[in-house]
Amino acid sequence: MRILVVEDEASLREGIRDLLHGDGHTVTAVGDGVAGVEAGLGEVFELVVLDLMLPRLDGMEVCRRLRAARPGMPILMLTARGSEDDKVRGLIEGADDYVTKPFSARELLARVRALGRRAVSAESLDEVQIDGALIDLARMVVMRDGDHVALTPREVGILRWLYQHKDRVVSRAELLEQVFGQRGDLQTRAVDMAIAVLRKKVEVDPAKPRLIVSVKGAGYAWKLAR
Ligand code: CA
Repeated sequence: MRILVVEDEASLREGIRDLLHGDGHTVTAVGDGVAGVEAGLGEVFELVVLDLMLPRLDGMEVCRRLRAARPGMPILMLTARGSEDDKVRGLIEGADDYVTKPFSARELLARVRALGRRAVSAESLDEVQIDGALIDLARMVVMRDGDHVALTPREVGILRWLYQHKDRVVSRAELLEQVFGQRGDLQTRAVDMAIAVLRKKVEVDPAKPRLIVSVKGAGYAWKLAR
């Protein structure tokens, strides 16, 4: 797996990096929250190991921002012992799993491997072929007739969220909250605008969408209406 490690304690960061590297993973390690968000949005990772207490941007905010852009990317939170009050527990719940410091190498590897297995099944949408186009979500690009069009992290997030809930209609408010990380009725127009831009990239005829379908009065759906 490609794994992002965000941990400000240098010795622990190096230790985790060496451990995961030794387990066969490709590891990118950074030392603060801002760098964590930049790395996590700039590349595709199959897992993020994220410390809760970080300089510049705390782990929860990093988690929220990464979740918004990449809803399916597993996040393993590292927490300090004694920090499990109600507030922290609520925050940890935004992550897929957590490990309390100090942890053993064996414990961390076990959690990483478990999340990796889950990621493989949840993130089965790596590419979509439709109407002569290949939408490569891992590489964040749409290829059609030799042309390459780049997708933004948010656009990949929209596609993944719709796909993961393809058995139902997804409302604008849900996309706004889950993918954009925002709330508010007035902002739902931002979702429509983002969908319009995304359709121009992925649909042969954006006026007659076949991949991202509009459901009147309800929202959007993944190919539901076909
Ligand atoms: Ca820390």
